[in-house]
Amino acid sequence: MKSKVLLIYTGGTIGMMQDAKTGQLKPFDFKHLTEQIPELNKFDVTLSAVSFEKPIDSSDMHPAIWLEIAKMIEKNYSKVDGFVILHGSDTMSFTASALSFMLENLNKPVILTGSQLPIGTIRTDGKENLITAIEIAAAKKAGKPIVSEVCIYFEYQLYRGNRTHKYNAEHFQAFQSANYPVLAEAGVHLKYNTSALAKSNGKKLKVHTSLNPNIAILKVFPGITENVVNAILNSKNTNAIILETFGSGNATTQKWFIDALKRSIDKGMIIYNVTQCNAGAVEQGKYATSAAFNKIGIIGGNDITTEAAVAKLMFVLGNSKNKKDAEKMLKTNLRGEISS
Ligand code: ASP
Repeated sequence: MKSKVLLIYTGGTIGMMQDAKTGQLKPFDFKHLTEQIPELNKFDVTLSAVSFEKPIDSSDMHPAIWLEIAKMIEKNYSKVDGFVILHGSDTMSFTASALSFMLENLNKPVILTGSQLPIGTIRTDGKENLITAIEIAAAKKAGKPIVSEVCIYFEYQLYRGNRTHKYNAEHFQAFQSANYPVLAEAGVHLKYNTSALAKSNGKKLKVHTSLNPNIAILKVFPGITENVVNAILNSKNTNAIILETFGSGNATTQKWFIDALKRSIDKGMIIYNVTQCNAGAVEQGKYATSAAFNKIGIIGGNDITTEAAVAKLMFVLGNSKNKKDAEKMLKTNLRGEISS
């Protein structure tokens, strides 16, 4: 039996081509995908494709669109063996993280990919990215999918989506997963890192559709003023804040700063401490500069990326009973987004 893969085209550079007259990049008609990539006809995979009516640059990505994608996956879940989502690379890590939380008990591959150069250009990285992403989405061993989680495939590497960060705006190798090993590498052979792949639990897919976007990010820097901190902490309707700290979770020890954070926490705000570093983890209390955080009730984010923290906070706020429950969920490894 041939594997069936559904391509979901949301937009981004990969699906653009140069308009012959204006020279501008515009989305091409996805019905003509195989004209652009005739290699797809040689695949031993049954491919179908759906395209967003209005493909977007991923800088316009939004939780409402994550919902649309999750619903497309739910609608087609029993019909296909895997999904490939074509997406702009700019916010791909956020979307991959959000989908990982929204799709509980995922037992099939959901592979996001894109490219730095449009698919119609001669040096495009899009062809390889798309072809291998399809191969991964179709791959089975003993009748079961090899991958059963939300991933990003880019430039010969498969990553756990909620561990990724776009770190390069120029290189074809645009993503990194500093705190979790690569899940597969494509060379002459496609080599899976079996021990790092999520194990499917065999339970029925549960799609969570409630996300609460009332969050903010407060990135500290030397010299940050009380004004700025208070403006963010007191911004209307904000329920939770990611505090992006130095190194292993440190920030200034000035009294006004700790007092401002404590006041917000006492009023019900969740403050989630995530490091500004690309790799490593928050360890509150390791240095004196983070000791107060434990006392006032800041939640340490461990080794979570900011992208996954944004998605996790929106998910947790939308799916918890109360603050205590939300804080417990934040500390728990829900989808492989933090090290246990
Ligand atoms: N700005 C584009 C986007 O994220 C870049 C890309 O596709 O890689 O949609």
